[in-house]
Amino acid sequence: MTEMSSGEYFYPNKMGRIVLLAMEEILGHNGINAVLNLSKQSHLINHYPPNTLDREFEFGSVSKMMGAMEDIYGPLGGRGLALRSGRACFKYGLREFGPSLGITDLAFRLLPLQTKIRDGSDLFAKTINQASAQRVRVEEAEDHLFFHIEHCPVCWQRSADASVCHLIVGILQDALYWVSGGKFFHVEETLCIARGDPTCSIYIDRNPFE
Ligand SMILES: [Zn+2]
Repeated sequence: MTEMSSGEYFYPNKMGRIVLLAMEEILGHNGINAVLNLSKQSHLINHYPPNTLDREFEFGSVSKMMGAMEDIYGPLGGRGLALRSGRACFKYGLREFGPSLGITDLAFRLLPLQTKIRDGSDLFAKTINQASAQRVRVEEAEDHLFFHIEHCPVCWQRSADASVCHLIVGILQDALYWVSGGKFFHVEETLCIARGDPTCSIYIDRNPFE
């Protein structure tokens, strides 16, 4: 057990694998290896978790990678790479979870956009809540949504002056891009546990940029 041990807070191996594959796609092989070395997780180099649902991937593993990415590429560069990694996470996640959730079915894709945003958000929250101790609650309003997250693996045990869960913002940006057939939405983390807030809260505008 290390000082960063997450106790009961583990993701299924499958989800840790998705994060690592996505980061490798964006950072390249040398980049992800540098991140794993700097975050003292060299045991993961060339040994990504297996594609199983066993809860063996520590929450802290994700946040340590996010911190190392900022250290290597700078806050701004790290933020951009985390956003892009998040978008790649959605792609891998959709491949793994999409068919069983029914969201890749034609019947779902033909629903009105606002219905897809609402149903998709609920399915996203349910999938996360069932998979691990991370908690996601969707707050729905007419023109926006909030995703309120407790036990957030992306900023697990980090402290920062600003919001740091760019990976989640990237995932949600790409989810909206996919669900809308190629539109961009305002997505912003307005509260972050890393800066002392009670939740990581992500604001999502329900209407795309024109
Ligand atoms: Zn956060």
